Amino acid sequence: MMLRDQDRIFRNLYGSEPWHLDAARRRGDWDGTRDLIAKGRDWLVEEVKASGLRGRGGAGFPTGLKWSFMPKQPTGQPVYLVVNADESEPGTCKDREILRHEPHKLIEGCLLAGAAMGCTAGYIYIRGEFVREAEVLQAALEEAYAAGLLGRDAAGSGYDFELYLHRGAGAYICGEETGLLESLEGKKGQPRLKPPFPAAAGLYGRPTTVNNVETIAVVPTILRRGASWFSDLGKPNNTGTKIFCISGHVNRPCTVEEEMGIPLKVLIERHCGGVRGGWDNLLAVIPGGSSVPLLPKSICDTVHMDFDSLREVRSGLGTAGVIVMDRSTDIVRAIARLSKFYMHESCGQCTPCREGTGWLWRMMTRLAEGRARLEEIDLLDEVTREIEGHTICALGDAAAWPVQGLIRHFRPELERRIRAAALQQAQQRQAA
Ligand code: SF4
Repeated sequence: MMLRDQDRIFRNLYGSEPWHLDAARRRGDWDGTRDLIAKGRDWLVEEVKASGLRGRGGAGFPTGLKWSFMPKQPTGQPVYLVVNADESEPGTCKDREILRHEPHKLIEGCLLAGAAMGCTAGYIYIRGEFVREAEVLQAALEEAYAAGLLGRDAAGSGYDFELYLHRGAGAYICGEETGLLESLEGKKGQPRLKPPFPAAAGLYGRPTTVNNVETIAVVPTILRRGASWFSDLGKPNNTGTKIFCISGHVNRPCTVEEEMGIPLKVLIERHCGGVRGGWDNLLAVIPGGSSVPLLPKSICDTVHMDFDSLREVRSGLGTAGVIVMDRSTDIVRAIARLSKFYMHESCGQCTPCREGTGWLWRMMTRLAEGRARLEEIDLLDEVTREIEGHTICALGDAAAWPVQGLIRHFRPELERRIRAAALQQAQQRQAA
């Protein structure tokens, strides 16, 4: 399995060509957009459904189905598309490459998605730290407006669509879709209780669909090349191409577009020059951004990179931010560091997350140093179960899963540390 060049959607992922409108047009963007819109809302939604596209932000929900939840008939009231460009997941840097090198793919995708759902306006919520990316995107938006591709009669289609860029202020939780909507409304970025879901009551209480940057940016190519072209790539229920970003202990960390379902080992060896010190030096991989459970080498040997394959091994594709750790890694300390991140980013609304993430970090810190009792491993696991599924948003799960993965796959290492620390203490007492 290897993505052929002619099937690559992102042809300027590395910025080897300019991002400007004329260069984007030469790469095929904005080609026949008006004709696509003329095919009507139902055709647009059905084509995306038929392609099998699943959201690229982490949850993997079918995009066409999500679009179909929006009101079918115009009511004269605003309906919104919101693009989540708050890419903040540790280990993830895929949307950033689209924003700075392929902004017109995203803008054209917004127009087509907006037309498919009858949206009156769209907002792209970009993380505050993406300063240069926001500058590029704003300039690309102005180019699109000047060329008549946005605004009244967008691209000559007869459809009016305004698109705005909004900069966030740097909170991880604003990447959660309802936290993002709160922030966009000018409030604290605290996730909302669901239901109601955004399709019923989203931005300013109006029907809203929130989609990830990569999800929206692949839509124009799918519509131009056809749903069956996209669904023939990858595997059933896990179709198309995917941008992977591989970091950590590999020889050449990179961001690369590949076919969904590529074996993890092939992905690392083909595009990253292999694991530092060779494949046998691999300890573990976090396959989908820091929120998903890690996989030990024995699973990495054979696992494929798609939603269903990774769920079968009790992990997840998430954002496809692949974090590789070789045998030099202190795996307990690495996961403890993630626990600190989630503690810091908890918005504090719900008790299991607000208190539990702190417990996890404190227990993980002690475990990393061996300052714990053996029975505390089970206690730690129980704390993660009390957080998981008991919170308003998925940050609670995101804090729990890395710790669960560690206990599941590296329990002997946790026990070894505790025993070693206990032995050392006993020897010190004897010496004293
Ligand atoms: Fe806030 Fe955590 Fe509750 Fe999410 S799970 S709403 S981040 S306290």
